Amino acid sequence: MCVGSWAIPSHGDSITRGVDRAIYTREAQRWVPEDVVLLSPLAAPGPERRTETSIAASTTPRVLIVGAGLTGCTLAHALAREGVGSVLLERDAVPGGLIRSEHMEGVLYEPHGSHIFHTEDEEVWNLANAMTPFNDYRHRVDILADGQILNWPILLSDIDKQSQGEEIHRQLADREGVDATARAAAANFEDWCLELMGPILYERFIKPYTEKQWGRPARELSAQWAPRRVSVRWDNDPYLFADPFQGWPSGPRGYTDLIDGLLDSPLIEVRTGVDVDQDDLDGWMREIQAHAVVLTCPLDVFSGGHLGELEWRGILVRNVHIPHREYAQGAMVVNYPGAEFPFIRVHETKHASAQQCDGTVLGFEFTGAPTRYYPIETEPNRQLNDRYQDELRHQIGADRLFFAGRLANYLYIDMDDCMREALNASKEVLGALKVGA
Ligand SMILES: Cc1cc2nc3c(=O)[nH]c(=O)nc-3n(C[C@H](O)[C@H](O)[C@H](O)COP(=O)(O)OP(=O)(O)OC[C@H]3O[C@@H](n4cnc5c(N)ncnc54)[C@H](O)[C@@H]3O)c2cc1C
Repeated sequence: MCVGSWAIPSHGDSITRGVDRAIYTREAQRWVPEDVVLLSPLAAPGPERRTETSIAASTTPRVLIVGAGLTGCTLAHALAREGVGSVLLERDAVPGGLIRSEHMEGVLYEPHGSHIFHTEDEEVWNLANAMTPFNDYRHRVDILADGQILNWPILLSDIDKQSQGEEIHRQLADREGVDATARAAAANFEDWCLELMGPILYERFIKPYTEKQWGRPARELSAQWAPRRVSVRWDNDPYLFADPFQGWPSGPRGYTDLIDGLLDSPLIEVRTGVDVDQDDLDGWMREIQAHAVVLTCPLDVFSGGHLGELEWRGILVRNVHIPHREYAQGAMVVNYPGAEFPFIRVHETKHASAQQCDGTVLGFEFTGAPTRYYPIETEPNRQLNDRYQDELRHQIGADRLFFAGRLANYLYIDMDDCMREALNASKEVLGALKVGA
């Protein structure tokens, strides 16, 4: 059926604009050029729906995205909403990157450790919820300190439960007058924490955890990191995050439902088991007939490392199924700062998923693994990543190369930030492709 642009379109309606025809699709929720739709699964149902030629053969703009984590998938979704096709090339066997959830013996768990969605960004929250519903989980963390399980962050009400409670109160009172600006001028992470809470709490809660996490003395870490990571809760609020929107996916497959929701468009093709580097890029761009490329992968590895290697602090989570326990610990995350424990945290997804089933899965998190989880945010590392970006822009073309996500931008960013970054990157790409202008 042909409809005018004033009518509310429904799936399959078509429209003619000049010499071009477009079809309205439910998946893209907008008018999509006919050649894309006719070459897409809408017109060719069957097992081979997402064929390699479906997007490649069309004449509409196409984007190559390296990496199908949350950033790449959000970006592909945002482009598809505007009728732009994309091909995601993913090194792993499945898309999703760090946030993908899995099942072990029927128990939903997170192979890379706990992820809690918390944000002030309403548009991002609505987008995530449009892909999969979220429950109202609020994140609480326990910590084994002073020989007992206490709340993290430190609660004023927990101080009387600890040894040397009176001395801790005195040390806190001594520091009441130190204002936040003076503290921000502290020489390093350790000094910042000592000025906030005094030596007993610092030695008990902060120092051993921090040094285990970063593998270096806390005095060598920047004071700038402290406000994001350390606080004393004078109001006794036990929850970790204060954002207005918080939760965990309530569908049967956790964050995998979010990823699959984002990828659910005939304009998006995912090819897994493909490790892309700079030498392969031209070939891929030609094969896919891509007009632009977005990298969400680590740039030193992608470029062959010739300018030097970017430093990361890695973790490894070992997950274990416990068949006879409904829950094995009191919170989703328990911190183990003590040097006597070889792991730093233990994760139990069931607290967030609220899954009703026998058994549970515990994830033991070990630090110091050769994986890329936390960037070491030093000036030389920042400059090195900038140099990789500049060089790649120069070689590939600043008008068709874009960067997004935690790896290509060498940043620790939460899921909401990475979705926001992907939405912003989609606008840049659409601008470069002159779509929707
Ligand atoms: C331990 C930990 C806990 C976290 N907890 C939270 C939390 O509670 N709440 C929160 O909001 N955020 C949390 N985050 C942050 C969250 O994980 C990230 O914001 C998000 O996963 C980033 O997605 P991404 O797509 O940028 O990166 P990734 O998830 O790393 O995805 C990148 C993808 O690119 C692929 N890739 C890499 N190189 C190549 C290549 N050369 N070719 C092809 N594919 C490639 C990878 O296989 C991967 O699939 C946490 C992060 C960590 C490390």
